[in-house]
Amino acid sequence: MAKTPDDIIRDDIRALSAYHVPASAGMVKLDAMENPYSLPADLQVAIAARIKAAALNRYPDPSAAELKQRLRTVMNIPVGVELVLGNGSDELIQMLALAVAKPGAVMLGVEPSFVMFRMIAGFAGLRFVGVPLTADFSLDADALLDAIRTQQPALVFIAYPNNPTGNLFDADVIARVIAAAPGIVVVDEAYHAFAGASFMPRLAEFPNLLVMRTLSKLGLAGLRLGLLAGRSDWLNHIDKLRLPYNINVLTQCVAVEVLQHEDVLNAQAATIRSERTRVLAALQKLRGVTVFPSDANFILFRVAEAGRVFDGLKQRGILIKNLHGSHPMLADCLRVTVGTPDENARFLEVLTTLC
Ligand SMILES: *Cc1c(COP(=O)(O)O)cnc(C)c1O
Repeated sequence: MAKTPDDIIRDDIRALSAYHVPASAGMVKLDAMENPYSLPADLQVAIAARIKAAALNRYPDPSAAELKQRLRTVMNIPVGVELVLGNGSDELIQMLALAVAKPGAVMLGVEPSFVMFRMIAGFAGLRFVGVPLTADFSLDADALLDAIRTQQPALVFIAYPNNPTGNLFDADVIARVIAAAPGIVVVDEAYHAFAGASFMPRLAEFPNLLVMRTLSKLGLAGLRLGLLAGRSDWLNHIDKLRLPYNINVLTQCVAVEVLQHEDVLNAQAATIRSERTRVLAALQKLRGVTVFPSDANFILFRVAEAGRVFDGLKQRGILIKNLHGSHPMLADCLRVTVGTPDENARFLEVLTTLC
């Protein structure tokens, strides 16, 4: 007797709703922390030449040696630190979760934070423990240290800066968390380019620290490339879970080319940071809008009725992210990605008519 999907698929998977990506064709797209700029024409030509020469009939270099070397330079990876690459950092989160998923094992994070931590914990069969942030979205040191003592998490994730709140947590509290944690602590630095703070130089200080980065928010979201840096005694095991050719030929050759022009990415990040300052100041002037400080390429703000403002923006062709309903602390909160000066001006102009 044949079984139905309801018989075969895990209950927890059937209960999930699929990750919803809204249609964005023709919209001013300020919902996904993408870099709004394309690459300069001469770099596009150099990329095209690399793609033309790429051996698509061959499997990629499984160790991605040239790409790793480039990343070491561009990301200032300390000497002696090991690297594992992922098809986006989401894949690295998944590899880490699978690696520690003994029966009863715990992944600990803070809330609100990046939703994929909790999601992937579920996929891997880990119990997720979310420790609430304080009302101003900073780390609650006592609650965190308490949860670490009682839950003994195999894996802790801290986004630095945090998504969706945009702030950098207190580095001293993070250091105390790393020192107190019995297992791995991953500091997720997806927004490093906009922050000017990092745990990368402190890897030698903490044997259980791993630092995660991605090229996605830096202007290469379409390539899907993330990296995990840390001690080989952890990463040698994580690497066994990596599917053999997870970084494809095109991602490798395009990333190698673009990373030879890190000045281009750095200049774009600098423009985004100065636009962030401008948009933040403009939002602060709007009555009925509460703005939260940001060290990332997006800004979290609260309005009287998030749903109405979100819909109003959407009707006028501007797509941002409505966080209302995703967590009690994010009631009536919206998140806007910093775009080009034109996109930001358009966003602010329409928002002004709605607040
Ligand atoms: C966007 C984001 C990621 C995922 O990045 P990819 O490399 O595109 O998978 C990871 N962590 C945080 C906190 C993010 O906001």
